[in-house]
Amino acid sequence: QTNINSVLKNLGILDLNPAYSTGNTWGGKANSVTIDSYSPVDGKKIAAVRVADKEDYETVLTQAETALIFWRNQPAPKRGDIVRQLGDALRIHKEDLGTLVSYEMGKSLQEGLGEVQEMIDICDFAVGLSRQLYGLTMHSERPNHRMYEQWHPLGIVGIISAFNFPVAVWSWNAALALVCGNVCVWKPSSKTPLCAVACQHILARVLKQNEMPEGISSLLIGNATGDLINNDKRIPLVSFTGSTRIGRKVSAAVATRFGKSILELGGNNAIIISKDADLDMSIIGAVFGAVGTAGQRCTSTRRLIIHEDIYESFKNKLVKAYGQLRIGDPLDQHNHVGPLIDKDAVDMYNQAIGKGKTEGARFVVEGGTLTGDAYNSGCYVKPCVAEVENHYEIVQEETFAPILYLIKYKTLDQAIALQNSVPQGLSSAIMTLNLREAEQFLSCAGSDCGIANVNIGTSGAEIGGAFGGEKETGGGRESGSDAWKGYMRRQTNTINYAATLPLAQGIKFDL
Ligand code: NAD
Repeated sequence: QTNINSVLKNLGILDLNPAYSTGNTWGGKANSVTIDSYSPVDGKKIAAVRVADKEDYETVLTQAETALIFWRNQPAPKRGDIVRQLGDALRIHKEDLGTLVSYEMGKSLQEGLGEVQEMIDICDFAVGLSRQLYGLTMHSERPNHRMYEQWHPLGIVGIISAFNFPVAVWSWNAALALVCGNVCVWKPSSKTPLCAVACQHILARVLKQNEMPEGISSLLIGNATGDLINNDKRIPLVSFTGSTRIGRKVSAAVATRFGKSILELGGNNAIIISKDADLDMSIIGAVFGAVGTAGQRCTSTRRLIIHEDIYESFKNKLVKAYGQLRIGDPLDQHNHVGPLIDKDAVDMYNQAIGKGKTEGARFVVEGGTLTGDAYNSGCYVKPCVAEVENHYEIVQEETFAPILYLIKYKTLDQAIALQNSVPQGLSSAIMTLNLREAEQFLSCAGSDCGIANVNIGTSGAEIGGAFGGEKETGGGRESGSDAWKGYMRRQTNTINYAATLPLAQGIKFDL
């Protein structure tokens, strides 16, 4: 039995029930509305937080504006050093924060710890980046002129995050945004507020030790603050991670005021299983991809597109593997699958199964809600598998639950067309030992997703690469490679050190 109070105490947040934080100031009105955080693991209430109102929001934004003037003038390597210390603090708190992630969100302890490791990794990445942030130098067409570009911070970055990666998504954004010279305002999911309070507290302590002002990193609790962020001209960049449905609203609101957005939205990820695949490896990739985090990853495997020659044998292996899955308390390391986030998610899972059946889905592993002592939060469901056609409406949608669809193919061209024939474009994979197939899949005529893997499943990206997807996944990129450029503005500078003023394109203008 996890003693969650001792975890909260170790994290220093046992008595905190804030509506907002500007760093080491934790605020909120005594009479404000509260959100109770319940664990999907056992249904117990963990703690309550308060909801920020318009006045709290203004306090946060005013502080952020002041902090920005200080922070953007710190040398980037100095900002990097603060992020290095955040990484060190996360190393110390890994066990407690990972446990809180697991208990509040419901993912396995291994995945909770893995999420904190991902935070540490992005901090390391950002520290190196703080001595780079390179711009190019280019040759001018005019004599005695120098041209170059430099990257400046954007200003206040709004971070709106989803429940399923309650700590890592913040850190992907915050670590990069901070070394780039921005200050951050974070609105976490109202389903996982305590994870957010814990992260904010860890960073706030680092900032205090370094005698940094309030407002460099802020936290705002409550759904209404999302809309305030979307419409606030003082926030030049909104990084939004969540569903396509909400992302569409965020994107429209931010675009209307000509703000920038980074959109990390839903996926509908497939693995193509070739007849030339290593089938044992493919089974592990497919099952982990489909049932890991109870199917609540944006990169979860939702569709398997299987060659007709091996379809029946692969299906049988899959059914056998599903028969071995242990569902239960995610903090018990014997279990493979934990709960869904809440009962609403269970309803959506059941509705999707019903809709699938109406459309003609044939379930080869049946789903259903689990009941009994071990499952009394009401959030545990059976991972299930159905044979479908790719064009079914339910197959075209992202259902955030462990439902896996099987689709048969004859030729690789057809498999790639099926894989691409969904509105989303996040992650994709092919299992094959055939070089021609692998290269075709990765070519411009292959997968249309932001992530395309060979002999790896669809989930579990590393922070070194740029992360994100195309089409209704939103087109944003976060994390590694040059994703940092999304958090900065590019400025092109031309300097004339001649005694004359030659004009570009040879234009003559004599007075
Ligand atoms: P959600 O869209 O319901 O909520 C996401 C966030 O938006 C929450 O913080 C929520 O409070 C906030 N929000 C709600 N209404 C808002 C509004 N009008 N304006 C601004 N913010 C608002 O998503 P969820 O259920 O928390 O997360 C699951 C979804 O997130 C899935 O679709 C999943 O694929 C996606 N996701 C994508 C990625 C990615 O990197 N592509 C990563 C994780 C999750």
